[in-house]
Amino acid sequence: MIVPNLHYAELQDSYFFLRISEKSEAYLAAHPGEKLYKMGIGDISQPLCPAVIDALHQAVADQATMEHFHGYLLESGLHELRETIAKHYASRGVTLSPDEIFISSGAGDDLGELLDLFAPESRALVLEPAYPAYVDTNIMSGREIIHLPASCDCDFLPEPDEQIDADLIYICSPNNPTGAVFTREKLKTWVDFANRRGAVILFDAAYEAFVTDPALPHSIFEIEGAPTCAIEICSLSKTAGFTGTRLGYTALSKELVRHGMSLNAMWLRNRTTRTNGVSYILQKGAMAAFSPEGRRQIESQLALYRENASVLSAALDQTGLWYCGGKNSPYLWMQCPDGMKSWAFFEYLLHEIQVVGTPGIGFGDCGEGYFRFSSFGNPKDTREAAARLVSLLKR
Ligand code: PLP
Repeated sequence: MIVPNLHYAELQDSYFFLRISEKSEAYLAAHPGEKLYKMGIGDISQPLCPAVIDALHQAVADQATMEHFHGYLLESGLHELRETIAKHYASRGVTLSPDEIFISSGAGDDLGELLDLFAPESRALVLEPAYPAYVDTNIMSGREIIHLPASCDCDFLPEPDEQIDADLIYICSPNNPTGAVFTREKLKTWVDFANRRGAVILFDAAYEAFVTDPALPHSIFEIEGAPTCAIEICSLSKTAGFTGTRLGYTALSKELVRHGMSLNAMWLRNRTTRTNGVSYILQKGAMAAFSPEGRRQIESQLALYRENASVLSAALDQTGLWYCGGKNSPYLWMQCPDGMKSWAFFEYLLHEIQVVGTPGIGFGDCGEGYFRFSSFGNPKDTREAAARLVSLLKR
């Protein structure tokens, strides 16, 4: 009888987000007519911008004509899109050629599939609290996981420790769930650590568009030494409202070589085997997201989320409770009051002020006692939730 991948038995049930929605629904069933203020969601609330919609329509029309129809495309993406993204990097002082950029169906897909490039015995270091997929994909592939817990003592930006024996290092900045953003100096310590060890950093830049402080990096490739140790995973999901449309990209320099093997060449080989690429229509939509008009329109959506984040920050400032994030990031991460555990605080907010957030324990053990708010909701609900938080928690 075939033996399935037994590592799947080691995965925890993905009941965490289900439990949040079950508890929310149970509350509404018991309190008919009440409204919940959902500040927990990681999904966006604003639609795609008009420039992207127009490009999608045009691309559908192209597919209807002999003249403009496209069949199979390059697995790693349309050259014009990769060139556009390379120019986007260049505008930030990062030099990458189009063949160092690979178009994907989203960051989630590549975070899982990139693991194909590394030997099963390579050890993965996860800086926690963390986006749960980092741990789960490594469990699925049977890798040893080293958990590096962070706390408010380091503002949730842990530093490398020479004792750590890791081969793959996950860094997410701006971070989900903490909203913490690595400075160039702090990121450089990780880049140097990875280069010294011959490790590889998987840098998740899904929230880079939220960085507004020019002193903070959007990309790990802004850090000297990164091309020889880092792979950057990006997404238009939160940047341009593509969570349901699906498009991302991964940047992998030709300078990244391990055991004499080019990881760029290996990833190209992987792509040409594992995928027939992303739809022409979506890639044209993504092109529009990078056009001057698209960027302007996207900026106004990002401004709306940033305003939500500052409304929530102002509310938490008034409570006097410790928190980080909310600046250069869509997430805020607060310490629960009076030593409350994160699920207890979830129930407290739900029952007292009908605000729904995300218990920190869902992002690793060191998330216990913390709570995440997101700024992706609609502005009216965010203002109401913020006012309710102040009235409940202000000392
Ligand atoms: N990485 C992080 C940190 C995320 O929070 C998410 C989605 O919430 C993803 C990756 C997945 O992004 P995508 O929609 O591009 O698959």
